[in-house]
Amino acid sequence: MEGTDHIIKQTEQFGARNYHPLPIVLSKGEGVWVWDPEGTKYLDMLSAYSALNQGHCHPVIIKALKEQAERITLTSRAFHNDQLGIFYEKVAVLTNKNMVLPMNTGAEAVETAVKAARKWAYESKGVPINQAEIIVCENNFHGRTMTAVSLSSNEEYKRGFGPMLTGIKIVPYGDIEALKKAITTNTAAFLVEPIQGEAGVILPPHGYLAEAANLCKQEQVLFIADEIQSGLGRSGKVFACDWERVVPDMYILGKALGGGVMPISAVVSNEDILGVFAPGSHGSTFGGNPLACAVSIASLQVIEDEKLVENSFTLGEYFMSKLRTLDHPIIHEVRGRGLFIGVELTEPARPYCEKLKEKGLLCKETHENVIRLAPPLLITKEEIDWAFERLKSIFNES
Ligand code: PLP
Repeated sequence: MEGTDHIIKQTEQFGARNYHPLPIVLSKGEGVWVWDPEGTKYLDMLSAYSALNQGHCHPVIIKALKEQAERITLTSRAFHNDQLGIFYEKVAVLTNKNMVLPMNTGAEAVETAVKAARKWAYESKGVPINQAEIIVCENNFHGRTMTAVSLSSNEEYKRGFGPMLTGIKIVPYGDIEALKKAITTNTAAFLVEPIQGEAGVILPPHGYLAEAANLCKQEQVLFIADEIQSGLGRSGKVFACDWERVVPDMYILGKALGGGVMPISAVVSNEDILGVFAPGSHGSTFGGNPLACAVSIASLQVIEDEKLVENSFTLGEYFMSKLRTLDHPIIHEVRGRGLFIGVELTEPARPYCEKLKEKGLLCKETHENVIRLAPPLLITKEEIDWAFERLKSIFNES
């Protein structure tokens, strides 16, 4: 196998430059651990932005992948396949909803949710044609497609890509009065991340989600929760909405739905909303393919069987309580829920992530000053202690 330097050079020579990765190559993964081509071992505290909640190459998920790959991988939706129904039922039971629409990536599921909300607004709410509005929050992250960047408040995400989608209103995250003011008779939906991940692990003020959900109900506005990053155990509950006992009208799921093995996403709701789609109104060649479905069924089973939600809750509390003992002037705040943790610094976090890499701990800054700590949910207490010692040492050295 070629070494790290060669691989990075080759990658940078031919690849579009839309990422700025740390200078490390990963060539093997197992559980919370990854290795570079030279055999150096690291603890992965990023988990592919929460797509690896079940850890790298989980044997149960890989077994499902292999078995399915040897039978059939793709049928297109022109025909039925024997995995899709099982997947639907599993997701419906988990969310207590009755209709599921599968896609591949998170951003595609966001697109799907926006399409569904608009169509629902015209057909069920009686919004005049082409007048439907979607309300989103400042500093949201819903992906990188044209719809998703149109929803963004970050000018850098949009610059040079216009014209943007219209019919979007942006309100400050956590401000219920602003949401109240923004709602009109043309509002189709309020789309929100119950914890803002890319914004720097931002928790909403206590009670905000419940108040927003009630307001939406009163005003006949769909409450759509983007749980792509916060869901499936990451926050120490199955969904981050569960922290406020909120049941959204629509869940958007992705990332860990495919166990870090196959891309699969889904919009989950009830018939009265997702029933707006008729044959020909939406689709995807790979959406609902049997390989991704089989992998997803196994991935959801692993979360359940290995009590990953409970582990996230318990070890998240443990990790945060330890991190809060790091009384260093550079640490502004430690916040999070479950194993979805942000350590906000008073200065850029990237140099600290680089130092952590040298000590065998992989993480990535988010929103400039925040170190996001989001390991696979099957991490053990001993591995948290190991990570904590590395974190402690970089702050002590600075
Ligand atoms: N929504 C949220 C909350 C996310 O965190 C992400 C990815 O980070 C997305 C949507 C986009 O998902 P994908 O990268 O699979 O398109």
